[in-house]
Amino acid sequence: MPVPHFDVLIVGAGVSGIGAACHLTRECPGKSYVVLERRERIGGTWDLFRYPGIRSDSDMFTFGFAFRPWNEPRVLADGPAIQRYVEETAAEYGVDEHIRYRMKVLRASWSSAEGRWTVEARNESTGRKQRFTAGYLVAGTGYYDYDQGYRPPFPGEERFGGPVIHPQHWPDDLDYAGKRVLIIGSGATAITLVPAMAQDAAHVTMLQRSPTYIMSLPAEDKISEALRRVLPDDLVWRMARRRNITLQRGLYRLSRKRPGVVRRLMLRGVQRQLGGASDLANFTPDYNPWDQRLCVVPDGDLFRVIREKRADVVTGRIETFTETGVRLESGEEIEADVILTATGLQVQLLGGASLEVDGEPLPIAGLVTYKGVLLEGVPNASIIFGYTNASWTLKADIAAEYTCRLLNYLDRHGYTQAVAYASDADRAEDSVMGALDAGYVRRGNDRLPRQGTHGPWKVRNDYLRDAPALRMGPINDGILQFRRGPHAEPVPAPAGAEVPAGR
Ligand SMILES: Cc1cc2nc3c(=O)[nH]c(=O)nc-3n(C[C@H](O)[C@H](O)[C@H](O)COP(=O)(O)OP(=O)(O)OC[C@H]3O[C@@H](n4cnc5c(N)ncnc54)[C@H](O)[C@@H]3O)c2cc1C
Repeated sequence: MPVPHFDVLIVGAGVSGIGAACHLTRECPGKSYVVLERRERIGGTWDLFRYPGIRSDSDMFTFGFAFRPWNEPRVLADGPAIQRYVEETAAEYGVDEHIRYRMKVLRASWSSAEGRWTVEARNESTGRKQRFTAGYLVAGTGYYDYDQGYRPPFPGEERFGGPVIHPQHWPDDLDYAGKRVLIIGSGATAITLVPAMAQDAAHVTMLQRSPTYIMSLPAEDKISEALRRVLPDDLVWRMARRRNITLQRGLYRLSRKRPGVVRRLMLRGVQRQLGGASDLANFTPDYNPWDQRLCVVPDGDLFRVIREKRADVVTGRIETFTETGVRLESGEEIEADVILTATGLQVQLLGGASLEVDGEPLPIAGLVTYKGVLLEGVPNASIIFGYTNASWTLKADIAAEYTCRLLNYLDRHGYTQAVAYASDADRAEDSVMGALDAGYVRRGNDRLPRQGTHGPWKVRNDYLRDAPALRMGPINDGILQFRRGPHAEPVPAPAGAEVPAGR
């Protein structure tokens, strides 16, 4: 059977893969492409996670795509609404017709001699392997292992009589109505689960080893709602998006520059919300704001269920599970009928697929990224890795835009390959997510690309600087190398050939 060939092969039909495919249809309309997706549906994270209350903790004006407005009043959307938005976006751009579902990519091999990728995938329905070739590869595979969440072992687990569940693997038939629920964890997932489950459970306890910064946001954007009465939806959305980008960035920068001020403001907000219903110590982290990801709750829903005594937060370390719950090192016992281990994710890149360049396996962990989009020494490939200190999609969008600009540049100049080579001086020890001291980042440190030391190698995590650089900066910057046709040695790009902002 002939091997199907495409100009571009995209792996993953989540926010990043669908976004990249939409950008291709908009900005490179002549290119043929295919999207290989392991699951049966579009949406990635928003299809996988099914726990009660699943929602974004980014505002949807910045989490939505730059090219498709989010016109609902809700600031933080639930999982099904985000999935619907991604699905509708795919349908609007005709991307859904290019997706091959149940295809798990196992290996991507670049051949300089052939000037193309050979991608091997396994059809998850039939078990049969299939090959594809492509001129350019886009990885929209996210950053974590879909098969396994992070789940540390706890002493005495086997003693507990009830179900122990990880939120990444939520059973459809879990009945917790009228039951005592214990949630282990203090991240975004735990904080979302508490108010959602408190509606039906007898009581919910969130057990954390250490507190997290939690900020309450209005669930609905009343300003945009009011403006929508007098201004067109599109303009209101643009204004809300710009405002939120600036606010997010401002808060992040202020947290870095004046951590004491931000800490005091946040703790004051929490104290007000708690109204004395819980010890403020349970919400007072021993690190500065934004050293770890900051959690947000819509309209203080978490604090409301604590005030109503339907939930509480306990800080302590588990000594052992017991027949009826857990015992802490302090001697305190927490009784439970159901235990949820909201203990996090396991970092995994390329969805576990292996990467080869000219027959050599390339472990991504040792590589540095170029402009946070390409990988050093890997020709014709973009890896879409969004922000973790702001909405993921802000970066995913501009990474896809840059990829389209690069593809158009290659076409305009008759090149077929682009590759960036780094030297040791360009590579830092830290990983690209090193600035974020989250558990999954620490655990996944040896699986992530390295941070760069300067210039295009350095991942800045700053949309206001990245957006102009990726949208308008020169493609031919003297670092990226271009080749014509297969077999050819690197050739220098013509000086001054680049038209700024040209597509
Ligand atoms: C519970 C939860 C809440 C989150 N909330 C936010 C938030 O509020 N704001 C924010 O910015 N970020 C959030 N994130 C991060 C979130 O993952 C990103 O926002 C974004 O959805 C990632 O999109 P993606 O398309 O890059 O990756 P994913 O959503 O992970 O999608 C990757 C897709 O690639 C497919 N795939 C992977 N490997 C392969 C393979 N080998 N072959 C074929 N297909 C493959 C997967 O099946 C999946 O469909 C959250 C993450 C989680 C887990």
